[in-house]
Amino acid sequence: MTRRPRLGRSVITRGTPCARCGATLDRATPIERSAVPKEGDISFCAYCGAIAAFDADGKRRILTLDEIRALPEEVRDQLATAEVARRYTASKRVAREALKRHIN
Ligand SMILES: [Zn+2]
Repeated sequence: MTRRPRLGRSVITRGTPCARCGATLDRATPIERSAVPKEGDISFCAYCGAIAAFDADGKRRILTLDEIRALPEEVRDQLATAEVARRYTASKRVAREALKRHIN
């Protein structure tokens, strides 16, 4: 049986833009590790789903497909779970807005 990763407490970090969509990302939620991101840690944009890695300056660099393929399977599984959650949240938002337009 696959063990579910435990998410730690989110912390506020120095706001840096997503390298793809430009959204300011100023929180980090650790998976069973320290919450303070360090060089090489993987970042997932909750807005657009971009997968990036932190550099030494705390900025995010989008990973290539080959770099994503080279990630450990456990990490790719966690990223897939995050993408499902992101799409679910986005679809709920679209549905709420459609309902609001229908009511008003
Ligand atoms: Zn993004």
